[in-house]
Amino acid sequence: MSNTSYYFILWILCIVPLIHSLTPKSPIQCNKTICTLENSYGTWNDRKTCYALNVTYPTTEQQLRLAVSHVVQNNLKAKIVTKFSHTIPTLSCPLQNNHAFFISTEKYDSGIEIDAENLAVTVDSGVKLRELIDEVEKNGFSLVNAPYWEGVTIGGVISTGAHGSSWWGKGGAFHEQVLEISVVVPASKSEGYAKILRLDSHHPLFNAAKVSLGVLGAISKVKLSLEHRFKRSITFNFTDDNDIENVYMDHANKYEFADITWYPSRHTAVYRYDFRAPLNASGDGVFDFIGFQANSILVPESVRGAGVNVELHSIMLNLISTSRHTSFDPWPNLFSVSTNYILVK
Ligand SMILES: Cc1cc2nc3c(=O)[nH]c(=O)nc-3n(C[C@H](O)[C@H](O)[C@H](O)COP(=O)(O)OP(=O)(O)OC[C@H]3O[C@@H](n4cnc5c(N)ncnc54)[C@H](O)[C@@H]3O)c2cc1C
Repeated sequence: MSNTSYYFILWILCIVPLIHSLTPKSPIQCNKTICTLENSYGTWNDRKTCYALNVTYPTTEQQLRLAVSHVVQNNLKAKIVTKFSHTIPTLSCPLQNNHAFFISTEKYDSGIEIDAENLAVTVDSGVKLRELIDEVEKNGFSLVNAPYWEGVTIGGVISTGAHGSSWWGKGGAFHEQVLEISVVVPASKSEGYAKILRLDSHHPLFNAAKVSLGVLGAISKVKLSLEHRFKRSITFNFTDDNDIENVYMDHANKYEFADITWYPSRHTAVYRYDFRAPLNASGDGVFDFIGFQANSILVPESVRGAGVNVELHSIMLNLISTSRHTSFDPWPNLFSVSTNYILVK
């Protein structure tokens, strides 16, 4: 063995014990008196602490119904919280008073039933998007569309209208693939204070129940349409942004999952050529979406620092002249790109 190889192996052996990967902690932390909820950034956009007196973790639809029943019976203010809590605004924070209560879907995440004959899958609302994708793909099916980001639960995606990119068919919004939705809503005492509504597309509440921002009840199950398994071919073309205002329509018409990332200050557009490919097509299997590349922690920290500076500067200006107002936008930190980042549907 050469000296170089020897030192290289020694170096690897030295650094391996130093590398630790940590799964994100639960967004809900409780002590003896109170539970607090954070989003995945560790701070809400209003900078306040979100709290509740208690939390429950139902594991079945019936337990979810009992949780809502408990809330109604005791006149509590509750919100559904997920394992990820990736929302930026305080959507999952209940009204802050001495009656706030969290219902978490973190442990309500096991049900995935595929109906191959009818090209459909029914899932518990706490199921994570990645687990659902893996399960349907294993069985020879694909979801028609999905958001770019897989760190979401099915309940969270549907409640917030999260989307991928497409204007073909029903478009890129995930909730457009919902065939049926079950929601636990408050009910009368004789009904046990909570009941389960099963809504299909003919029901007048169907659309409202889908993108409800968590305010119309607790989504328990969702039935989604499937397609036979397909692959996608994705190529990024970094090019001049000339004529982008005309090119984008042709681009979106031509490619089923097209999108454009536009950097106006650099006069650059990144056209994503994204379309279905035959199952026997080969590729590297890597989804190298620009927004989710690994970054040194120094990058988001310095962007965040710059944002805080802007905020402080703005506060100073406000103190001097009350006519100015600036808010702090967390998305540029998240993606580590400038605010020029635009996703075109
Ligand atoms: C890095 C990153 C990338 C993202 N990329 C995209 C993207 O490509 N496209 C896009 O559209 N969005 C994107 N988002 C936004 C993301 O899709 C939403 O924030 C989504 O709501 C997060 O899902 P969640 O499971 O974490 O839900 P949470 O953030 O925990 O909850 C969101 C809301 O849904 C409610 N809710 C959740 N489950 C239920 C339920 N079972 N019943 C009733 N209400 C419920 C909550 O009460 C809350 O009001 C991204 C977010 C991040 C952090």
